[in-house]
Amino acid sequence: MQKYKGTFASEGLVMGPVYRPERQTMGLGRVVHGPSQERALFDAAVVLAKDELRQLQQKAVGEQKDILRFQHALLEDRTLIDEVGDYIAVGADSAAAVERAASIFTHTLENVDDAYIRERSADVVDVCRRVVDILDGRPRGKLELTRPSIIVADQVLPSDILSVEPGMLLGIVTSSGSIQSHASIIAGVMGIPAVVGLGSAFLDAAMDGATLLLDAEAGDVVLEPDRALQAEVRGRLHRQQERAEEMGWLRNAPCRTKDGTAVSLLANCSGPQDIEAAVQTGAEGVGLLRSEFLLMKGQFPDEEEQYRFYVDCLRAAAGRPVTVRTFDIGADKAVDGLSEPEPNPALGLRGLRFCLSRPELFHTQLCALLRASAQGPLRVMFPMVGGVEDWREAMACVATARAALRTRGAAFDERLLFGSMIEIPSAALTAGEIAAHGCGFFSIGTNDLVQYTQGADRMAPGVARYYREDGPAVRILIGMTLDAAQRAGIPVCICGQTASDPALAAAYVRQGLRSLSVTGNRLLKVKNELMNLDLAAEADAPGAGLGQAGTVSPGARL
Ligand code: PEP
Ligand code: MG
Repeated sequence: MQKYKGTFASEGLVMGPVYRPERQTMGLGRVVHGPSQERALFDAAVVLAKDELRQLQQKAVGEQKDILRFQHALLEDRTLIDEVGDYIAVGADSAAAVERAASIFTHTLENVDDAYIRERSADVVDVCRRVVDILDGRPRGKLELTRPSIIVADQVLPSDILSVEPGMLLGIVTSSGSIQSHASIIAGVMGIPAVVGLGSAFLDAAMDGATLLLDAEAGDVVLEPDRALQAEVRGRLHRQQERAEEMGWLRNAPCRTKDGTAVSLLANCSGPQDIEAAVQTGAEGVGLLRSEFLLMKGQFPDEEEQYRFYVDCLRAAAGRPVTVRTFDIGADKAVDGLSEPEPNPALGLRGLRFCLSRPELFHTQLCALLRASAQGPLRVMFPMVGGVEDWREAMACVATARAALRTRGAAFDERLLFGSMIEIPSAALTAGEIAAHGCGFFSIGTNDLVQYTQGADRMAPGVARYYREDGPAVRILIGMTLDAAQRAGIPVCICGQTASDPALAAAYVRQGLRSLSVTGNRLLKVKNELMNLDLAAEADAPGAGLGQAGTVSPGARL
């Protein structure tokens, strides 16, 4: 029995045999033709590869579609195509030219600072492998699993996962990669447990057919677990199964605490696919749609494309409310070609500040959102509002967009509600003033509220202990926001990651919150916790009302 530690990529506990995919050796038995014939072969292979990707897209679900679309776009990338063309022109055979171009591209991507971009190198490998397989007359990189197994490889490519028959892929363990890799994202969407970044020693030890235990959340991987551990895991899996069955009824049950207090549970989403999944899990709507993800696919969608996207989101929510946050660009969500380098991006031109500095970009988004509001229960909120000045500037842009739509005769909901994220302490401290200037709702973004209150970068592991999610200062700011919302008679929700933690979610409900927006796959866990909460019994318990240091009772004034 040997234990390894990796990085969590997709939740789940699983045990099964190792499957080591064989990567075929390239370049054997190739015949080299003249450059013009090789070029013609290459062009034909690209057409076929694009066709295969289109067909795969039709069967794909959720983010798989976007990834296949991205790979399709790679085959239209001029730099890649020209690179291949240059090698062919100097006498290389087309397959070798693709392999060479792929290795240069991946090398460049792997050395980029941005982890997200680095992970895109897997897509280059994947799509080029498809073209090479076509040129070499080989079946496409299909993984032939003969029994349900855990794939162990240096890197797992998106098409590896998509090529496996349903039910055959128990888990994924890779020696490289990160949670941001497309393979990790696909694994998450498909509910396949995955741990990445285990290093090459693990790869050397994990032989085909060996038994592997994967406890993804903890990042634990055990090779050849002993009998005692295997029995323990079987017990855990059995209990999980029972719990999943118990949880099934939770999906449709209204979320009420034991004493009957209703709590609205919404989901944080990024597009129609995860909205559909969240609705199936019982989400009452979308509390946060991170619209900036639309811009991270390398293109800037025009008003029409954005409009269709928001309408698709409304359709996926099937009548439930969808709260779209306008582009939160900057800091950890920099967008290539839009964001400028800044000395301290978290304190720089991000969120609403960025949009106000780019009025044409903001105008396009506001027009698309306003038009979409005619099609369903939409709400719109602004990120990184610092105070009433920001709020008023944003609403002046809304007035301009409304006027433009009236001139064009485009329909929109005149009563579309606009709200403010509360994620900077200054916004929490002046929430009453923001509400007094027409803010329709608050959404507390604890991810940023904690970082700005505690002065600890949310991205820096070195200061993790200072990033105190449940610190008294944050509780006080949440209490002030609640209080301001109550006085103004407007709704308030928490949409930061902390709301997806069952214990913190319960603490927020104790504090007076009645609406939480959580990560889709945590929704049932949060719901279960809240449905076991008894606010009335806690209030009657001896010592109740004294509170913890820094706890603010519902609606309390400071
Ligand atoms: C937040 O800050 O809590 C939030 C929800 O926004 P993001 O994580 O996208 O910055
Ligand atoms: Mg934020």
